[in-house]
Amino acid sequence: MSLYADLHRHLGGALHPRIIYKFLQRQDHKILGYFPDYNGFYNWFTRPCRTLDEFVKIHTLVEELQSIEHLPYFCLRLCRGAYLFENLQYLELRYNPYFRTSHNLTVNQRIKQMQEIIDVITVNLRPAEYPIIVKQILCLDRRLPNSINEAILKVAVKNIGPVVGIDLAGPEIEPQKWETWVKFLGKARASGLKTTCHLGETSIDNVYTQYFNVLDRIGHGIHIPLVKPALLKELAKKQITLEVCPTSYKQTGVLKDFEELKLVFSRCRKAQVSIAVCTDNPGRNPSPCTLPGEYERLIDADVIDFTELRHIQRESFRAAFGFIGTPLI
Ligand SMILES: [Zn+2]
Repeated sequence: MSLYADLHRHLGGALHPRIIYKFLQRQDHKILGYFPDYNGFYNWFTRPCRTLDEFVKIHTLVEELQSIEHLPYFCLRLCRGAYLFENLQYLELRYNPYFRTSHNLTVNQRIKQMQEIIDVITVNLRPAEYPIIVKQILCLDRRLPNSINEAILKVAVKNIGPVVGIDLAGPEIEPQKWETWVKFLGKARASGLKTTCHLGETSIDNVYTQYFNVLDRIGHGIHIPLVKPALLKELAKKQITLEVCPTSYKQTGVLKDFEELKLVFSRCRKAQVSIAVCTDNPGRNPSPCTLPGEYERLIDADVIDFTELRHIQRESFRAAFGFIGTPLI
């Protein structure tokens, strides 16, 4: 049996809609007023969105459910599914710790509570019966003030070990603020963290080459090969891996068809830019969306062939931020 590594998966989008629905039932949550049966909820939760903004709104709802007391419930189920149904040997899970703190606290109290959030997640990502290795990437967010992002970076550095990297997430707004983000990412790297950043997902607008000096990987970045392939040389030189999440682009309205990824893969292949295939928000995609399923879809659409499959599978382990050991491919 072949095992896999997934490097780009959000805690808020990782869970099967059935698990979320059961959780809402247990809580007798008010949102069930809109969705008296599971099918209605499932269709709403997994429907393709027109824009990334629209997609992020539902993500925010799940983030709010994943408060400190409920995180063990979600973490255990997430590891179980990834191990049993996806054959994942290694997973890098990303989340914003601030968004999971209690909303009734002051900003300062919420900042302090981030450490507890990380502690709870760390403990609950190691269920003995599902021996998958899960490392954490903490997300900064383009919508948050610098002071909170600064605090997220600080708590990430303090938790190096279970936390292996920093990401910049949230809707792709205010591209002109690139200098701020490059500074944050540079600081993260200087402190011993690896770095990735949601960039070039919906357009090329926020892709500034200065990012390339401070990144180990790019979350998506598909608009680089699609719109500015000349920049690929720079990515190859700096050995930056692109995290490509096929189904996600259909769900967020970025691409219409998997076939559009042919150009992404062929241009990266030619420029020797490596790609890791990832899932992003598998729980938000129509079931079953698993990492092996993403590989299958790429083969189905003739984006890659079986020889390349092995190579890309291996690439995910090689580009991982915290994997030590031998990939069981
Ligand atoms: Zn993402």
